Amino acid sequence: MPAGGSVKLRALRTFVFLGLFLGGFFAAAGLMLVGEEGLLVGLMVMGLFLLLGGTVSFTLQQAPCPYCQGMLGGTFTSGLTLRDEKQQFECPHCFEWLVSHKAMVRALQDEDVVFAMLYTCPVFWNGGWPAECIVCGVPASRRMEAKTLQAGPLPLGTGAVADAAGAVKRVPYCEAHEAQVFVHQDDHGKLLLLFTDYGARRRYLAANARRVPVKLARPKRAAS
Ligand SMILES: [Zn+2]
Ligand SMILES: [Zn+2]
Repeated sequence: MPAGGSVKLRALRTFVFLGLFLGGFFAAAGLMLVGEEGLLVGLMVMGLFLLLGGTVSFTLQQAPCPYCQGMLGGTFTSGLTLRDEKQQFECPHCFEWLVSHKAMVRALQDEDVVFAMLYTCPVFWNGGWPAECIVCGVPASRRMEAKTLQAGPLPLGTGAVADAAGAVKRVPYCEAHEAQVFVHQDDHGKLLLLFTDYGARRRYLAANARRVPVKLARPKRAAS
């Protein structure tokens, strides 16, 4: 749904400030260095920001999450707009997987599932798993470690930290399934699970009422 008036105004204000600041800077510098043509460039920069601000504020998407009712969007940096076409994203409040499509925010539907897509999900502190195979839901007969897609050992830290982040070591599977969940540490140090299957992601979320994402020290990447 379109963002409310105050939200629109806030976005517009940001662009007006940016426009005045940057445009003013260009205008002043231009006037001093080039003369009147320079001033004109500065005014054009100002105008551009006003135009951009107007467009952005009137296409901002703002809607409640269908799972947790937390408010989504409403800022330029959220990346959600009324013009989105099947844009998939994670709710920043409850971590459910959502779709922004034609001015609506809704839960993922079968038709949205993309072939060979990996669904990311935070590893939660003291996270648990259901007692069923994470892929098909029959009673689990074994627990297996999620493999990392990065070089080296699992980036779990040590001691109590590793224990609390240790859900990645106990992924439940039946005899027919394995290796459908991977683990990845992003550049900010966040520990993520990568699910090959959307249903498996939902099973993990359902088993975790308390959802506090694991964030560890930033990974040291070998310079390449
Ligand atoms: Zn939510
Ligand atoms: Zn299974």
